[in-house]
Amino acid sequence: MSDRLKGKRAFVTAAAVGIGRACAVAFAREGATVFATDIDETKLAALKGEGIAEVAKLDVRDSAAVAAMAKRAGKTDILLNAAGFVHHGTVLDCSDEDWDFSFDLNVKSMHRTICAFLPGMLENGRGAIVNISSAAGVFKAAPNRYVYGATKAAVAALTRSVATDFIAKGIRCNCICPGTIETPSMLERAAAAGPNGREMFISRQPMGRLGTAEEIASLAVYLASDESAFTTGVAHVIDGGWTL
Ligand code: NAD
Repeated sequence: MSDRLKGKRAFVTAAAVGIGRACAVAFAREGATVFATDIDETKLAALKGEGIAEVAKLDVRDSAAVAAMAKRAGKTDILLNAAGFVHHGTVLDCSDEDWDFSFDLNVKSMHRTICAFLPGMLENGRGAIVNISSAAGVFKAAPNRYVYGATKAAVAALTRSVATDFIAKGIRCNCICPGTIETPSMLERAAAAGPNGREMFISRQPMGRLGTAEEIASLAVYLASDESAFTTGVAHVIDGGWTL
């Protein structure tokens, strides 16, 4: 621990596995008091041994639950929004229900948490919001990522809007645009692509490997800390050169 987030309180969504989990653990390691949430209570419970101060079940699709959880969490310096779902398919595979579900989970969830936590940050005169977007949708199109790409572009736009509106009030809002990162859902998508799915995903990586959730968490720590005090409204790509 090097105390880069010492004295700060952080709230993380979708923290049970993958990128959200790695961010929650890295924040705690850097001295933050971390409140980690997810819909998966079982996997969340394992976080207690990782120095996480508090864990709680939270469905980010439930506005009332998000508002109540923000009250329970109290004043928060860092909000990390990680919840997201990858719909597979083109425009022709995307029903109205698919579209609504993806936008609700990937974008409106962030609207909900920001509405709930921003007033407390404004009272404190400081706050760092970090949203997990994606290289797909913001920096390039990926096949069969029609609505996913649309949601992640919306996350980048939402990020810039929040950054602009509150830039003079001590609030910073950035998003991270990962490339292909080895997480439970990514491995499920690879398995669904066939027996060589993982190799197929690796073959499109110029570095010859997938990214790790810990590599994303390192960037999240920087964006959450005062080291990035002059940075706001930016979509930070971290993709092993996928978009080069
Ligand atoms: P994941 O998909 O493996 O896990 C997602 C977590 O979200 C799970 O713990 C799940 O229980 C939780 N979750 C699902 N619905 C929820 C809800 N309604 N409320 C609260 N929690 C909920 O995680 P990941 O692959 O690390 O993805 C995290 C974020 O990173 C997502 O926004 C994803 O789009 C983004 N991302 C991932 C990659 C990648 O390659 N893995 C690349 C770019 C962006």
